[in-house]
Amino acid sequence: MSVINPSNPQNALRSTQDKEIFKRLLQDPIIDQLCKQIAKHEQQGPQGTRRQLLSTSIRISQKMAPELSKITSECVEKLDVDIPLELYAYNSPNFNAACVKPEEGRLFIMFSSSLLDAFDFAELKFVVGHELGHFIFQHHDIPVGYVLKGKTQAGPALALQLTSWSRYAEISADRAGAYCCNDFNSVAKALFKLASGITSSIVKFNLDAFLKQVEAMKVEDDALANSSFEKDWFMTHPFSPLRVKALQLFHQSELAMTGGTKKAELELGIEGLMALMEPSYLEAKTDSAKAMRHCLFAGSLLIANANGHISDYEISAFEKLFGESEYSDDFNLEKLAAKLPSRCEQVLQSNSLPKRMQLVRDLSTMAKADNHVGEKELAVLENIAGMLDVPNLFVNQVIADSSVLD
Ligand SMILES: [Zn+2]
Repeated sequence: MSVINPSNPQNALRSTQDKEIFKRLLQDPIIDQLCKQIAKHEQQGPQGTRRQLLSTSIRISQKMAPELSKITSECVEKLDVDIPLELYAYNSPNFNAACVKPEEGRLFIMFSSSLLDAFDFAELKFVVGHELGHFIFQHHDIPVGYVLKGKTQAGPALALQLTSWSRYAEISADRAGAYCCNDFNSVAKALFKLASGITSSIVKFNLDAFLKQVEAMKVEDDALANSSFEKDWFMTHPFSPLRVKALQLFHQSELAMTGGTKKAELELGIEGLMALMEPSYLEAKTDSAKAMRHCLFAGSLLIANANGHISDYEISAFEKLFGESEYSDDFNLEKLAAKLPSRCEQVLQSNSLPKRMQLVRDLSTMAKADNHVGEKELAVLENIAGMLDVPNLFVNQVIADSSVLD
């Protein structure tokens, strides 16, 4: 049993960041105007969604697929969905499913033919739950597609916020799916199939290997001095190993079992994963990125000097962050120490929690530079994390991370 109230599972399941960014987006003038336009359009009559589905897809009746209907009903009941549902299948070799915005009081879920052929019932429960999740969390209220496809004059800042929200929305939907499926192995297998397209026995699913891929991704990131790839920024779906990792955290939390980790701790873990997909601040020209770099500059030198001496390893770690021959013996460390609180304050004012976690993660590479995190280094790092309002739990996580790797 979990802490989820079975008569109202929606609030507990939904990711906190999904809720918060969603609220903010609805207040954005561009989004607001767009929503009003769409609502006005919809008032003029049905938009032909059902007509379109009936003419291009097969409607799956209860008689045609009794087992699929049964699991769908179970998901509907578990998630407390109160709208009639119609299922459709369309012809496609790509695994996919979608939940279409309701029309005239009916909700539609469509599956690609290949997905229905290749997924077992437990995996389908995850898929159905995921799609229903988009409906119960009202994700359709934000017209992401319209904005990202360039139908409005949204600037890059809004586009980034939308894609960032969209990834958290997927995390919420995944939790709804996992809640319905109630079996982490099947959930992970479904994501493995979605990511790889593989269903034969030539490549066998291996949960540990799949999870290790996330760790490998973190190592790659560190090696690149944390330059996230540009294409990650605009990906609306979280990269699949990250989704598996996020779902593992969910299954270990109080939302999935008695005595599991607290929801706040779960959300913190999610932020840490999402930080891997945030754009890097090391090259960005914005003021908020500049504030991050100033803080990294002072912070990394002070961590390096925690024991009163900066080693060659630490100098090379510093140059990895700031560039070759950027290190100088003449840095005024006392002055930097005095400036550090105000630099942290600036970061705090202008950067989100995942970004600040990125900074703490980069600072931790300095603490780990000589393969050993000393007590004094840790104390400086924890002090900076405190000023950045990044929980100590995360510091412990990043410090422990290296020992997990083989
Ligand atoms: Zn989705």
